Amino acid sequence: MEKCINCSLESGGNYCPNCGQKLHLKKLTLRYISSEFTDRWLGLDTKFSRSAWGLFLHPERVITAYLNRNSVRYIGPLGYYIVMTALMLITFELLGLEVADFLKSTNENLGLPSGSGSARQLALQESISGWVSRNFRFVSALLIPFLTLGVQWLYRKKRSFLENLVMITYLQTHTIWFLIVGLFTFKWTGFWVSQYMTIISLIYFGWALGRFNDGKITFRKFLKALLTWIVSYILFILTLSLMAIVLVVFIGAFKK
Ligand SMILES: [Zn+2]
Repeated sequence: MEKCINCSLESGGNYCPNCGQKLHLKKLTLRYISSEFTDRWLGLDTKFSRSAWGLFLHPERVITAYLNRNSVRYIGPLGYYIVMTALMLITFELLGLEVADFLKSTNENLGLPSGSGSARQLALQESISGWVSRNFRFVSALLIPFLTLGVQWLYRKKRSFLENLVMITYLQTHTIWFLIVGLFTFKWTGFWVSQYMTIISLIYFGWALGRFNDGKITFRKFLKALLTWIVSYILFILTLSLMAIVLVVFIGAFKK
């Protein structure tokens, strides 16, 4: 029997059954402070690496565990998003790469128009890509609601909107790993691999979404998941363009 230092209840085991405080206390060392922070607040160490590997090997298990309210085994979708976004920005910083250059090549690879059309269209594109690079950390997140809508539409009645949002947040966040690998490859070889990284991200998305709910993937399920991504992406680009046009028209009218 040990007395809890937080709520004074006497009990056995590793944790206080009343408030969750650890009963066997560790020495106050720098190691303790750093591991308490990374474990408890960031869910790093075991939780983070277990989630990251899990999302590579069997994404449906990680996401289903979270949807079943298991908060011990894996890091939550919001925590995963925040940690992965930070990791991405740190990688950009460490390698001394510019977000703008990366986006330019990505846009070209995704078949978006670049460097063609009238001066007015070019100015519009400049202002869009300028905005995108200034808000880069949010852009991959912007796709999340569209993908959720796409899944909601193409996989009718399977899950609630919130459940789909959780699933898409995990999957979309996880593709940051491919971006990070792409950035390192670019730094070491000078070769822009972002089109391959985009393709790999797409294959991952199709594979992972296709594995729901039973963990089995067929070519048909894979194609349906890919179609979902394409429909969502078109919807995303259309919305973004429409917003940009409205903005340009509005600013133009305002200037006169
Ligand atoms: Zn207690």
